[in-house]
Amino acid sequence: MEINIDYEKCDSLNCLECLDLCPMDVFDVEDNTVVFDVLKCVGCLACQEVCDYDAIRIIY
Ligand code: SF4
Ligand code: SF4
Repeated sequence: MEINIDYEKCDSLNCLECLDLCPMDVFDVEDNTVVFDVLKCVGCLACQEVCDYDAIRIIY
């Protein structure tokens, strides 16, 4: 499993929907940048679907 975030698309200053949504608490924010711990991810794809900026890809 891989998580890819396109930081050119991500609007972390105004969004952070993925942090709120992820049931496994995968995401965090450091210095206004979304970071993640891929080892916690169960591949539910909810973050990929919620991101209005099309910035997240979950890759199996
Ligand atoms: S939901 Fe998308 S745009 Fe919003 S913080 Fe997460 S990756 Fe960035
Ligand atoms: S696929 Fe599901 S568990 Fe993995 S980071 Fe996205 S919301 Fe969290």
